[in-house]
Formats: sequence, C-alpha cells, structure tokens
Amino acid sequence: MIDSGIDSGIEGRGAALAPGGAIGILGGGQLGRMLSIAAARLGLKTHIYEPGANPPAGDVAAAVTTAAYDDTEALARFAAGVDVVTFEFENVPALAAATLLAHAPVRPPPRALEISQDRVAEKAFIEGLGIAVAPWRAAGDLKDLKAALAEIGAPSILKTRRLGYDGKGQVRIGDACRADAAWDEIAGAPAILEGFVPFQREISVIGARGLSGEVVCYDPGENVHRDGILHTTTVPAKITPAVRMDAVLIAGKILNALDYVGVMGIELFHAPDGTLLVNEIAPRVHNSGHWTIEACLVDQFQQHIRAVAGWPLGDGSRHSDAVMTNLIGAEAEEWHRLAASGAALHLYGKAEARPGRKMGHVTRISPKPA
Ligand code: AMP
Repeated sequence: MIDSGIDSGIEGRGAALAPGGAIGILGGGQLGRMLSIAAARLGLKTHIYEPGANPPAGDVAAAVTTAAYDDTEALARFAAGVDVVTFEFENVPALAAATLLAHAPVRPPPRALEISQDRVAEKAFIEGLGIAVAPWRAAGDLKDLKAALAEIGAPSILKTRRLGYDGKGQVRIGDACRADAAWDEIAGAPAILEGFVPFQREISVIGARGLSGEVVCYDPGENVHRDGILHTTTVPAKITPAVRMDAVLIAGKILNALDYVGVMGIELFHAPDGTLLVNEIAPRVHNSGHWTIEACLVDQFQQHIRAVAGWPLGDGSRHSDAVMTNLIGAEAEEWHRLAASGAALHLYGKAEARPGRKMGHVTRISPKPA
C-alpha cells in the first residue's frame, strides 16, 4: 500500500490491515456470516474455512474453503492466502491453530481457545485471576465423581470437559445417589462436577480488546435460556451500577490476562448474595451480543473485525434499550409476520430448520430512558 502520509500521525496505523485486506475465518455459521458482513462494511474481505457444505457465511464471504479441521495442507494454503486468521467457534483443534500460526497471525490467541475448550482449564484459569466461579471438581472416572459429590453435594451439574454447548453434555444431579446414572448419561467422558448456583439472573458481558491493548465492553445483557438454548437477551440487565461495574471489570481482567485480541463473550451468574460468578468464556463473538447491531454505534461484529485487523476499536456505548430473541427451528417460519412487526429481523440462510437449530433472531429496540 502507498501511504499518502496524510494520516501518518495516527497511532498504530502501521500495524493495521488496510482496506482490501483479507481475514480468514474458521467456521462458516451465522457468526461467520455476520462477521463477513461487518468486514465488508469496512472494505475488508473474508475467506471462510468450513468442513460442512453450503455454510451460511459462504453467501456473503469473498471465498470459501471446504476442508476438514485436521487437513493441515488445506489449513496452510488457507492461512497463506489471508492476512490474519480468526474463528467463529472455539472447538477448533489445537493442531489447526498451530498450523495456521506458521502462516498468518491468529487472533484471538490460540491460548484462549485452549482454555475455553476445556472446562477444567477454564475454571482453573479464572479462579487463578481471583474471580469467583461455582464450586467445582474434575471427574475423570466414577470414583472421582462420587468423591466430588461428597465434597460439593447436590444439587450439582455434571458437564463433559470438552465439546459442550447449548446445554449439551450436561446432567443435573438432584440427589447424590444418582452418581452412577449421571456418569452413564455422559457416557463416561472426562467431566467436571459443578455446584448448582441458584442464581438470581444470568448476565453476559461482550468485551473487546484491540491490538494495542485498549478494552471496550458493552453494557451487560440479561439472558434467559429455554431448553438449554439462549432464548432472549435484554439490555439493560436488572443490576445495580455497582454490579455492572464489577461485571465489566471482570471482563477486562480476563481479556488482559490473555493478552487477548478480538471480542469475547463472558457469561456470569448473579448469585443470590449479589456476587458475580463466571460460568464460561467464549473466545468469539457471542449470541448474547447480537443486540449490539441495532443498539450500538459499533456492534460486536464490527468491533471484532476492527480488533483482529489491528484497527482502533469503535464506540460501543448503547444508545437504545434492546431485547434480542432467537428464532429456533420452526420459529423462523414466522418470517413474514416478523418482517412486518417493527422488529429488526435477521435470518441466517439455513436451508433446513431442525429442532434446536438457530435459524435467525429478532431485535426490538426502544428509547433508552434519560
Ligand atoms: P453452560 O453450557 O455451562 O453455559 O450451561 C448452560 C446453562 O445451564 C447455563 O446458561 C445455566 O442456565 C445452566 N447452568 C450451567 N451451569 C450451572 C451451574 N453451575 N449452576 C446453575 N446453572 C447452571
């Protein structure tokens, strides 16, 4: 790129990917689709890497590679053809991240992937920062589980260490003598036992950290799940200014500790005694941050693209109140009615509406009280 010199005083411009550059995204779902739209708005291109055919992001990306996550040759070719690599989901094999790193910068850092892929590593990391989490014990076998139950007690939740999402790979244990049945239910996979938190509410903070270390956090949203899947996110969450500040400080601490670059979703429980406990972190844009598209000047997708491209972060302050509702499975068949409802409608271009599948979402905004 030829620099005119006009903007040469702008701090950090040398590290920024200029318009026209290409961002590689591992994963081609709705998050990759909304990231691609955001990138296009900034004059950047995206290249999607996805094992499945016809990914939702493929409709709006400049290029798509269809290959497996363990295909090191395809990964190397993909990374060599883009300026920076990011991802839209966290279960990318560690080897894939290592292969990519040999050819292009990977943002967020692969360490964030490693930590969030394993619930035990995640809990240990967060606790190590002095941030509260639910009581937990690793359970590698049934004997461990029984010992963990003796310490933590019931009710508790047994979760597989890896590959759990939307409440999958989880069993609620209401009574300590149900250990054998719970162990069978998760098919003996390495697990973690967590004490059940009788939370007042679930909230999440969407935080972003730029290449130069600046942090921008969105206002916490309040999340309601249905059948283990996010149903609504409402902003503002019904929390005091002090709790809001705590939530944002927790997010900042996690982002800084990982020397993170990009957007992260941090899910928290607001406990009955008013304290906050981190449930989990997602090193990517997050479903509970979709409301930012309509209610903020710079949304989570723009912010992630800015961060990984080394651009300055934007203004993430909220100008409206918002309620985001996911459209799951057949709910998206209501698209015609929803399009006329005054809400902002988003459909992800998925051909088949399987039960439990995220097909789209709607966001309703209203004026933020003065
Ligand atoms: P997760 O996959 O860990 O996000 O869990 C999915 C949902 O299960 C959470 O959003 C909570 O509603 C519930 N849940 C998970 N862990 C706990 C816990 N330790 N105590 C109470 N509810 C939980």
